[in-house]
Amino acid sequence: MITDKPVCVTGASGFIAAHIVQQLLAKGYSVRGTVRKSPKNYPFLTGLPGAAERLELFEADLLSEGSYDLAVAGCNYVMHTASPYVINVKNPQRDLVDPAVDGTESVLESCLKAGCVKRVIFTSSIAAITDEPESMKVFTEKDWNTMSSLERNPYHYSKTLAERAAWDFIMRKRPKFDLVSINPFMVIGPSISPSLNTTNQMIRDIMTGVYPGIMDVNWGFVDVRDVAKAHILAMETETASGRYLCSAEEMHMRELVALLKSSGFDNYPLPKIDLSGITGTLLMKALSFTQPRDTGMYIRTNVGRNMRCDNAKIKRELGISFMPTKNSIVETVKNMVKWGHLSSLK
Ligand code: NAP
Repeated sequence: MITDKPVCVTGASGFIAAHIVQQLLAKGYSVRGTVRKSPKNYPFLTGLPGAAERLELFEADLLSEGSYDLAVAGCNYVMHTASPYVINVKNPQRDLVDPAVDGTESVLESCLKAGCVKRVIFTSSIAAITDEPESMKVFTEKDWNTMSSLERNPYHYSKTLAERAAWDFIMRKRPKFDLVSINPFMVIGPSISPSLNTTNQMIRDIMTGVYPGIMDVNWGFVDVRDVAKAHILAMETETASGRYLCSAEEMHMRELVALLKSSGFDNYPLPKIDLSGITGTLLMKALSFTQPRDTGMYIRTNVGRNMRCDNAKIKRELGISFMPTKNSIVETVKNMVKWGHLSSLK
């Protein structure tokens, strides 16, 4: 263990954060988790092994100044994961950008005030790297998303601005702590909480007939347990620095559907029509205008493009090895059935 002080995890109720909390507790750390409601609302956290002795929950909100002071006071390490992860919102400034950016600054201010923080591990995203894959390019930690805006992929915009705000904070205030960012791609896997995460929902949508056909799109997948592990390695590895792209492997939608079929889920209404050629891509781009605004925008900026990113830095510097995506996808499906997000079609 790198510290005997509690480790603070913001947004502890979240899909990724709940796994961070579980793994920290399993390693013997004491944890302070921040949540938005009264702690009694989180039995999936308070019931984790070790939680009774070593987990404290604090109420905090990204939009309320000074909200994180209490949770951070006395901690050496802070993992800032809290941020809205939703694609379609009414008001992108209010619903995404303000909590992401102001919340990040608020957490960092609390760390500054605390005086004892050594490192902040910031959960950024592939969204801060790019919102539009380029078929000939392999993205790395050096890339920054310069294209998103309030009108164009606003979730990506919120994550880019939040990560920029975090690095700017370090440059401007020169605090005693350093910053390491973890930039995951599509995070899938079993959920500790009963909520359905936005990424797992995409797999559910593929299995429930929401997609008209197989589109020319690919994603980098990474298991939520590996993302949690990456956060803890970023804390425990003294030499960790900068940004870490966190993606196990890329998979085309065609491969994902084939994998679901061959893994015993062929009785679900999986997409059958192949729309992954040039004509299908043109059709999908035309159809995108019938979708909710931000889903439509995502289709127009991602379909027909091949996304590739380089995960060498995280493997080399944090020593992580990723679990096979096939296993994660199968476990994701089983877990969604367990929580009642997907019916069991036996
Ligand atoms: P999640 O389950 O939706 O978790 C988001 C967390 O943020 C929740 O704990 C939520 O609290 C909290 N939050 C949202 N608005 C807040 C506010 N105004 N004040 C305080 N807390 C607030 O999503 P996740 O997938 O675990 O995402 C966690 C982080 O990873 C986010 O920063 C996200 O951008 C990033 N990320 C996720 C993925 C992915 O594929 N899942 C990929 C890359 C990056 P409530 O539970 O109260 O809503």
